[in-house]
Amino acid sequence: MPIVDFHFHVTTADEYAPWFLDWMSPVVNGTPEEYLHRVLDTPESMREYLDEQGIDYAVCLAETNPLTTGVSTNNRVAEFCQSSHRLIPFANINPYVSPDPVSELMRCVESGHRGLKLYPVYQYFYPNDRRLYRLYEKTQDIGLPVMFHTGSSSFPGARLKYGDPIYLDDVAVDFPHLTIIMAHGGRGFWYDRAFFLTRLHKHVHIEITGLPPQNLLIYFPELEKVADKVIFGSDWPAVTDIAANIASIRSLPLADEAKDMILGGNAARLLGLP
Ligand SMILES: [Zn+2]
Repeated sequence: MPIVDFHFHVTTADEYAPWFLDWMSPVVNGTPEEYLHRVLDTPESMREYLDEQGIDYAVCLAETNPLTTGVSTNNRVAEFCQSSHRLIPFANINPYVSPDPVSELMRCVESGHRGLKLYPVYQYFYPNDRRLYRLYEKTQDIGLPVMFHTGSSSFPGARLKYGDPIYLDDVAVDFPHLTIIMAHGGRGFWYDRAFFLTRLHKHVHIEITGLPPQNLLIYFPELEKVADKVIFGSDWPAVTDIAANIASIRSLPLADEAKDMILGGNAARLLGLP
């Protein structure tokens, strides 16, 4: 079973908002600029980092968050991922920035994007906002997964109300075949809602990025019941020792089969990986 990191930010030092680099400073050896550059310099340097951490595939996220974290465009991320089947680009469509989300989606698909990552808490919209319905419809039609940031964020400018997973209930009801992934599993306030929605809706998934793996069964005591809908991700560069997180998941009291699905099997199925 491959190991898939479903949540890897490939935003470069010059694309991040300046405060983000200050925030990273205590987390990394050397300067944040050097650290980001070492991994993201070229697709080859990123592949070396993935090898080092024991990761086979990484979902590489674009972001259009001018009010919060920064902007790494869909074009730039698609180009970065072009030369390697191990780097899987996910586009971001910000409803305040894209005048025509459906055309932007089609342009992204042509340039190689294999899914969407939406950031309600950094872009200030509710996931059930009707402005996005045509986008969801098209995304459902072409069969791509869409991941939403859910739950808390400690970043300046984040507005947490938009991270409540309950708004995804509308989306799941109105688009019953759309693959929905709740990044961070409703972190902080809403683990119970995220879990309930995952059990209720066939195509709704929990992604566990940013949750300390050793606490997973505290947040989701019945995690094993939905093990076929739980997806691992790192949130790099917020987490730098991804291998330690993988080891920590391996040491949880879950069936080996469940761990394999969480660490990559489920992602491979959603992404159509070998
Ligand atoms: Zn993230």
